[in-house]
Amino acid sequence: KKWVYLFTEGNADMRELLGGKGANLAEMTNIGLPVPQGFTITTEACTQYYEDGREINNEIMGQINEHIEKMEQITGKKFGDMENPLLVSVRSGARASMPGMMDTILNLGLNEDVVNVIAQKSGNPRWAWDCYRRFIQMYSDVVMEVGKKYFEELIDKMKDERGVKLDVELTADDLKELATQFKAEYKSKIGKDFPDDPKEQLYGAIKAVFRSWDNPRANVYRRDNDIPYSWGTAVNVQSMAFGNMGDDCGTGVAFTRDPATGAKGLFGEFLTNAQGEDVVAGVRTPMHIQEMSEKFPEAFEQFKDVCATLEEHYRDMQDMEFTVEHGKLFMLQTRNGKRTAQAALKIACDFVDEGMRTEKEAVAMIDPRNLDTLLHPQFDAAALKAATPAGRGLGASPGAACGKIVFSAEDAEEWNARGEKVVLVRLETSPEDITGMKASQGILTVRGGMTSHAAVVARGMGTCCVSGCGDIAMDEANKKFTLAGKEYHEGDYISIDGTTGNIYDGQIPTVDAKIAGEFGRVMEWADKYRKLKVRTNADTPKDAKKARELGAEGIGLCRTEHMFFEEDRIAAFREMICSDTVEEREAALDKILPYQQGDFEALYEALEGNPVTIRFLDPPLHEFVPTEEEDIKKLAESQGKSVETIKNIIASLHEFNPMMGHRGCRLAVTYPEIAKMQTRAVIRAAINVKKVHPDWNVKPEIMIPLICEVKELKYVKKTVVETADEEIKAAGIDLEYEVGTMIEIPRAALTADEIAKEADFFCFGTNDLTQMTFGFSRDDAGKFLNAYYESKIFENDPFAKLDQNGVGKLMEMTIKLGRPVNPNLHIGICGEHGGDPSSVAFCHKIGLDYVSCSPFRVPIARLAAAQAAI
Ligand code: ADP
Ligand code: MG
Ligand code: MG
Repeated sequence: KKWVYLFTEGNADMRELLGGKGANLAEMTNIGLPVPQGFTITTEACTQYYEDGREINNEIMGQINEHIEKMEQITGKKFGDMENPLLVSVRSGARASMPGMMDTILNLGLNEDVVNVIAQKSGNPRWAWDCYRRFIQMYSDVVMEVGKKYFEELIDKMKDERGVKLDVELTADDLKELATQFKAEYKSKIGKDFPDDPKEQLYGAIKAVFRSWDNPRANVYRRDNDIPYSWGTAVNVQSMAFGNMGDDCGTGVAFTRDPATGAKGLFGEFLTNAQGEDVVAGVRTPMHIQEMSEKFPEAFEQFKDVCATLEEHYRDMQDMEFTVEHGKLFMLQTRNGKRTAQAALKIACDFVDEGMRTEKEAVAMIDPRNLDTLLHPQFDAAALKAATPAGRGLGASPGAACGKIVFSAEDAEEWNARGEKVVLVRLETSPEDITGMKASQGILTVRGGMTSHAAVVARGMGTCCVSGCGDIAMDEANKKFTLAGKEYHEGDYISIDGTTGNIYDGQIPTVDAKIAGEFGRVMEWADKYRKLKVRTNADTPKDAKKARELGAEGIGLCRTEHMFFEEDRIAAFREMICSDTVEEREAALDKILPYQQGDFEALYEALEGNPVTIRFLDPPLHEFVPTEEEDIKKLAESQGKSVETIKNIIASLHEFNPMMGHRGCRLAVTYPEIAKMQTRAVIRAAINVKKVHPDWNVKPEIMIPLICEVKELKYVKKTVVETADEEIKAAGIDLEYEVGTMIEIPRAALTADEIAKEADFFCFGTNDLTQMTFGFSRDDAGKFLNAYYESKIFENDPFAKLDQNGVGKLMEMTIKLGRPVNPNLHIGICGEHGGDPSSVAFCHKIGLDYVSCSPFRVPIARLAAAQAAI
């Protein structure tokens, strides 16, 4: 088996095998761009490494060695050579780009002898020793996991002693001394000498890349981004291009379009006499890419051509890394650039207008999950105008964030867990901060440009970020900073605008977002191509209106129990629960009826004739009984009962496993009068709305929850139909209605052919269906799911991402059994999964009629449905 490929042997289509970076290095080589040559060890080799118990087997090792020789031939340099030594970078690269993976190691192949050779040959000892000290630093950090900070402390100490501010001001001798100090540091931490043999260094680095596939940060990122563990990462070994040989050298990163707004034009940063991550690490402030044209006119012109070539070649916005060595350009990476949702929409539209992409392709280019950010509130324009910014950084990732200041990723997580909205303020962020960044409304950094870690990661997550606000005088240790003369402490409110980069003291109010402009255009295309209908889960007219604005074509689930949270309503509801006789219960239900009817009328109004599915009462009753002494007393009074009696009733409602207890249609079986009242409310509401809007197609869909047996449905349906027909007759009006059921108990799925005879529609309640199929209580699963992720038993939360193998199979079976029995049966889904893109794709595949999700996920579902259909 071939485990290793030269760059000349690969191409862009080999992404699965070579990883994104490797495939694109090969592709750039193929189209004749200047790429330092090397080889890629495949993702399969990574998987094999894990299968072999975290060892690189002999066959793979043999091919690695073979390719080192080939690389030596191609470059005319040799590892550890005293004439012309080969130096390489070792870079990880999975199929999908993944922050949180291993850091790159540069200048590998150096030791005390080699460094002297290159110092002498180049006549540039400063460069040589800079390379060596960087290498020791990176190797120690990445391969041996000696913390970066020990080395940074040594550098800072050296700079202090020399009275200089920047790394570039250190001399060759300073750097040489640093290298010695670094090696001593290494020895004291590891207990062994720093490795001198280039091959040993290389093997160590390759293993470190493989190992990093399984580090906690990578695992978290994978879970958030739906990247399977089984993919593995490739390793790229590439000969070095040097941007740190002097002022006619440098390194940069650039996008072919603005990743924040999508505006066309070169966008990026360049740093002279620098290497690797210097540009993004914020050690020195880089120059804007356009300024390169003065200092490096030829390389810049060439780079502009390369950008045009690459964008046209990939037909997508490119994110590139490059280095200039003595005026000569080398391309080190290209990929489809990460972008904000706004930019994604603009770029997609521009590509269609430029004739580069079709509408379908444009729809397919946008990650539905990204849309989420556009649907979040924006700052209220008037309030924003009235406010004076306290400072300004770079608008690195758009959005509006308002929250309490925290100074560390851990604090962000902790505060967020207890329900606080926070803005994370840091000197700069690093990959360890990812979970804390996720827990924040926004991120504000003192250092770093548009391509800094914070900026890139925040854009990826769709979190608002303002980076590089140098005016902040930060005191991280004491959890405070000063900006515009004011001292800010942990817990103080701050507002940041990720579009303009403005920073505001205190809280700025926010308003809801709208679908307009490019967003609207792309959604129109999506609607044109999708087959699935998209409905919403809404319990209130307000949610329903919002969802309509966002494009919902109906209500797929209205949970009637959610209509009882208000004070006077819950009182009536409690009376109903704590009734002893049918008469008492009916009296209480009579009080409830007008509330329900009013709510339903408002829903029909909001939906303007689009379908509305109303689910009858589902939850265990004890969730509604009073717990406060005072409430119990009030209830007793209004019922004319003793407190004792009420307490006894409450105690009798206790259940050991309420999720599998007296709920759903079981309530309607024991208390048919509840179903009767709800039917009356639904039908009367529909009749009233129909009278006002005769042209609307008002057709109630009554949904009976938690059916496991057709006779249950038959029984409850009888009550519903009798009551409904009675109401319709009394009103003397024509009204059609449907009675359907949720499929949320495995037995319902298994007997769908029987149930379909009685049901007008099915709706998969995948929250319960998942719970009951797995036998996991969804309220308790959080306690053990993490252990499942860590042990690789699960890669995702089955409550968030539909389990297609198990739950999905039940769904397919349900459809296969149900449709032939009842050709008019319409089928939807209304669990949380209805708004999850991969689950939506599955629903399309198995032939559902609609998905239903929470209002803010409606546009996501529309786009995901279109992508599934394209
Ligand atoms: P990441 O995936 O984190 O971007 P990379 O493997 O792209 O990591 O490496 C980070 C940086 O290291 C690159 O942007 C580039 O500047 C530098 N680099 C990597 N390989 C080389 C090389 N062969 N020559 C010069 N610089 C390199
Ligand atoms: Mg990196
Ligand atoms: Mg890179």
